[in-house]
Amino acid sequence: MATLLDGKKLAEDIRKGLMPRISALAAKGVVPGLAVLLVGEDPASVSYVTAKEKACAELGMKSFEQRLPASTSEQQIVDIVRAYNDDPLVHGILVQLPLPKGVSEARIIEAISPEKDVDGFTPINVGRMVLGEQCFLPCTPHGVIKLIEVAGVKTAGAHAVVVGRSNIVGKPLANLLTRKSINATVTVCHTGTKDLGAETRRADILIACAGVPELIKGDMVKPGACVIDVGVNRVEDASRAKGWRLVGDVDFDAVKDIAGSITPVPGGVGPMTITMLLYNTVESAERSAGKA
Ligand code: NAP
Repeated sequence: MATLLDGKKLAEDIRKGLMPRISALAAKGVVPGLAVLLVGEDPASVSYVTAKEKACAELGMKSFEQRLPASTSEQQIVDIVRAYNDDPLVHGILVQLPLPKGVSEARIIEAISPEKDVDGFTPINVGRMVLGEQCFLPCTPHGVIKLIEVAGVKTAGAHAVVVGRSNIVGKPLANLLTRKSINATVTVCHTGTKDLGAETRRADILIACAGVPELIKGDMVKPGACVIDVGVNRVEDASRAKGWRLVGDVDFDAVKDIAGSITPVPGGVGPMTITMLLYNTVESAERSAGKA
């Protein structure tokens, strides 16, 4: 059986490490503040936002919650984001994606001040990340890198295969993995990839972020590989009271005896994403306290 990469435990450790930093800020009268905007009632988004607000409260951080109806106009959302940009009590702004149809995600994200873009999604932060300049790293890719580091997986010279090329997960992950400090050789797969299994079987580090339930089967994994499952998919399950259960993009049962290490779903990447959001918000508060 592969070593289980426990994202929940690592996330707890990182959160503990944030506590003295939050106390030091409190001594200066600063409480790290995260504004969380949710537009519409997508059930998965509601549960992500609730988890983020709860995590803030647990660490003594402040969350400013905005739950808006799906009918909210693009301009209204931009105006709310701009008000948070100007609010000194807000150090981080998170707009939960996806936004309702008809609202331009690009326009909303571009309205966020890069100094408060704790998700690392604005074009300025993405550019800084690619250039290796100081920036907020996007939370899920950052969490994945931390998981790989802590697992003690050798990245230098390793072949990493990223399945997915979204702007929020696959692309930034592929970019971070090629940083000199990590030094992996990276292949990025997507729906245009001709033979996915042939690519994934060459991976020393395999990262699945396709959003396809149990896409990665046992025969697609190199023995001993480090397998990181970013996917969070609801599949029907009549045996559960709620009628569904969560599965990743990796067929866990089929892969667990082939991989060297593997993240579970839930309890792997998910808790790391939230924790890196808190991490970036604390960092933003420290930067703003340093300027004051
Ligand atoms: P996305 O925007 O839908 O992107 C999915 C990517 O996977 C696309 O690039 C797509 O290729 C590729 N893809 C889809 N089916 C494929 C297939 N059969 N073979 C190869 N590539 C395929 O998704 P996302 O926002 O990146 O999220 C991916 C997954 O991660 C979802 O399950 C999401 O819920 C989860 N997620 C989890 C966290 C967390 O904290 N755990 C955070 C964010 C996302 P094309 O570009 O060709 O369409």
